[in-house]
Amino acid sequence: MATSIAIPQSMLPSDGRFGSGPSKIRSEQVDALQSAGRTVLGTSHRQAPVRQLVASIREGLADFFSMPEDYEIVLGDGGASAFWDIACANLIRRTAACGSYGSFSAKFAQSVASAPFLDDPAIFKSDPGSYRLPELTENADAYCWAQNETSTGVAAPVQRIAGSREQDALIIVDATSGAGSLPVDVSQCDAYYFSPQKAFGSDGGLWLAALSPAAIARATGLADDAGCDGSPRWIPPFLSLRSAIENSRKDQTLNTPAIATLIMLAEQVRWLNANGGLAWSSTRCAHSANTLYAWAQGSDYAAPFVSDPAARSNAVVTIDLDEAVDASQVIAALRANGIVDTAGYRKLGRNQLRIGVFPAVEPDDVEALTHCIDYVVERL
Ligand SMILES: *Cc1c(COP(=O)(O)O)cnc(C)c1O
Repeated sequence: MATSIAIPQSMLPSDGRFGSGPSKIRSEQVDALQSAGRTVLGTSHRQAPVRQLVASIREGLADFFSMPEDYEIVLGDGGASAFWDIACANLIRRTAACGSYGSFSAKFAQSVASAPFLDDPAIFKSDPGSYRLPELTENADAYCWAQNETSTGVAAPVQRIAGSREQDALIIVDATSGAGSLPVDVSQCDAYYFSPQKAFGSDGGLWLAALSPAAIARATGLADDAGCDGSPRWIPPFLSLRSAIENSRKDQTLNTPAIATLIMLAEQVRWLNANGGLAWSSTRCAHSANTLYAWAQGSDYAAPFVSDPAARSNAVVTIDLDEAVDASQVIAALRANGIVDTAGYRKLGRNQLRIGVFPAVEPDDVEALTHCIDYVVERL
């Protein structure tokens, strides 16, 4: 039985969490919870202690992304999935062009397609394992895609689509699992949004976004138009980006946030900046990812799923296994040894391992993981 394989203690990684989100939370983040326990946890999010925490996250992320002066970090409850609906309701005027190349990018394109007040989006589709950016589209007012397609381990560039500026179109990038791991110049987009449970190793439930002045103006304008120009758009109050912007400027959220999530996120942002910011974290993630890709290429039973090396993600690594090796057995054996969440995305349906190599994951642990996989496969 796969689960009876015992990997020698000396071979095991120091931490066995390799999930693609939720992902490893460092013990210092849990310590931060402990020390905030009596002062911040369980207190009002409208008072100074929690507002200072939100301020430190907003300022810390602005530093981390070397954000242009006139961009703003905005946050709210609901995670990146909520931001999909927020983008439909507050950022797309009428017509979006969407890249679709995996579960997450497809889900967003589907949200746009099903919004009754929006035109059918132009969808630029490619097979899982590759990416396709949306192309210049007549009448488009927004271009949308994912920087890191978490379901397939593909990374796409973040860059303005040539001609989109002349259309006053917004660039809206789902950076949920890319932000914090992959290099980015946020001035190349208008909304760069993510959740804290991936590269920021916190818990889920919040969304965060770096917004450009153009995105803020679009959100405010659409909110003002709603209901008074003959084409009323009802924006559910919970999904109002204008409310989120107004609250964020006061270092608050529209409704009650998970304060524990904020504490762990603030600690992670502090840790990342203290180590050298995005340049440091993206180098560290690239190193970890390369360890896995190089190991797979040298292995006689494993290979990177993404064939184009330039499209391989340095945040979420997908490795196909030879059909003679049953990935589900490898995953079960690893789990029995405390190495968890290495399964491929279920709906992709491949004989595959998928490994989150976010900044919190130690590069040495990634190296150890490769030896553990070899150990298990030799004994299956
Ligand atoms: C995880 C993920 C989401 C969904 O995030 P939630 O916080 O669960 O709503 C959206 N997009 C991408 C690319 C993701 O990886």
